[in-house]
Amino acid sequence: MEAHSPAEWDQFRRTLRGQVTPITWQTWLEGLQPGSIQNGVVSLLAPSEFHLRWVNHKYRPLVESAVTSVFGPDARLVIDARSGPAFPEGEEEDEEPDASGDVEPPSPPAARPGPLPGLVAKYTFENFVVGPSNRFAHAAAMAVAEQPGGHYNPLFIYAGAGLGKTHLLQAIAHHVTTLHPRLAVHYTTSEAFFNDFIDGIRRKRMDEFKARYRGFDVLLLDDVQFLEGKEQLLEEFFHTFNALHDHGKQLVFSCDRPPRSLVTLEDRLRSRFDWGLTTDIQPPDVETRLAILRRNASYAPSAVPADVLQFIAERVVDNIRELEGALTRVTAYAALTHQRIDLEMAGDVLQDLVPATRHTPITPGRILSAVAGAFDVTIPDLEGPSRRQPLARARQVAMYLCRQLTDLSLPRIALLFGGRDHTTVLHGINNVQRLIQSDKALFDSVTALLQSLRTT
Ligand code: ADP
Ligand code: MG
Repeated sequence: MEAHSPAEWDQFRRTLRGQVTPITWQTWLEGLQPGSIQNGVVSLLAPSEFHLRWVNHKYRPLVESAVTSVFGPDARLVIDARSGPAFPEGEEEDEEPDASGDVEPPSPPAARPGPLPGLVAKYTFENFVVGPSNRFAHAAAMAVAEQPGGHYNPLFIYAGAGLGKTHLLQAIAHHVTTLHPRLAVHYTTSEAFFNDFIDGIRRKRMDEFKARYRGFDVLLLDDVQFLEGKEQLLEEFFHTFNALHDHGKQLVFSCDRPPRSLVTLEDRLRSRFDWGLTTDIQPPDVETRLAILRRNASYAPSAVPADVLQFIAERVVDNIRELEGALTRVTAYAALTHQRIDLEMAGDVLQDLVPATRHTPITPGRILSAVAGAFDVTIPDLEGPSRRQPLARARQVAMYLCRQLTDLSLPRIALLFGGRDHTTVLHGINNVQRLIQSDKALFDSVTALLQSLRTT
């Protein structure tokens, strides 16, 4: 074996380093150890099989050119892997020990590979809390990750903001990369896809753009509602879709609404979205919200009491990003002020974020005054005995709202209105319930009252 000169290795590393981003360097290339130089063959050692596959897949040409530029034009590159698991540690708890086909004992790799480029490390299946609202979408995503290009192609996931679309798409990407290291997986936002496309046009490199996107085995495109109205891009997208689908390549889309609601999309494309499996994600129920908060709280620097988690889970209901944000603000505040977290503090910190309604209790007094204002009557009128219209109707609305918005029993509500019999109250409430189904004006005023009482 020829002794290699440390200066050459240094130069090799510097050359390589200068050509990639710091993250790529640290994640994938810094860990390549110099092996030997023999008969013009430069050998490197990757920290793990997984690492090796990734470097070969993504950075081989770069590494090769650094080798020839430093060790001479005839130098050849060989990269081996140090023995170790083919999968990143901890990602595949359920795998059989020999599922990777490796016979080596699973000693931990010297360096853990970081997140795949372009993906958020925490957006994995492991970190996705499953509940009734997302169970189906989760299962579909898992199935696709396990068998890309199988039955669910394309997979189309739609949901409102902050409900886990991006998380699920990236979880598929992580999982496919782990289970099927040879497949070319690409996650991108529709916006980035668009920019690539524009770039291709501008630099007259459309062939490159086409070849690139048609070379993927799994293409995950986030937020496809962004494609709406971009005719040229849609045309190209349509062909890319067909090319991939025809070759059994997996497509996964996310969107803020179902395909049928993508109104400006041509039928031919809309129907493509519906070819495979379409599934939504609903806002999570309170147990799921709690489970998500508990998981996040377990990473928080200070302990978060159960009643505070409950408090947050009950108040932020339809956006998990906001749910996480609320918890973060509470823990951040506690850390900043060196205080322990308790319910009072959480209420204080979250005042502006939490709709006031849900922590300022709605009192009968507020209801009476709101109804009096809306129907142009006085509070004593509402409490009094007069049965003339429209006063009597206004009183029934007030009873109805007390029932909807407070925990008061019927007899307690009766007391509020001059001690009327609780059956009178029940009659009034039922009356309003019935009338708002036919009387639009009444419906509108009741809705407006409900909303203003809930949100002020
Ligand atoms: P979307 O793309 O639908 O707007 P994201 O995927 O960005 O939503 O999710 C918003 C945040 O909520 C992210 O931090 C994500 O990790 C988290 N999140 C969403 N769904 C879940 C879930 N089921 N379990 C745990 N975290 C979740
Ligand atoms: Mg998203």
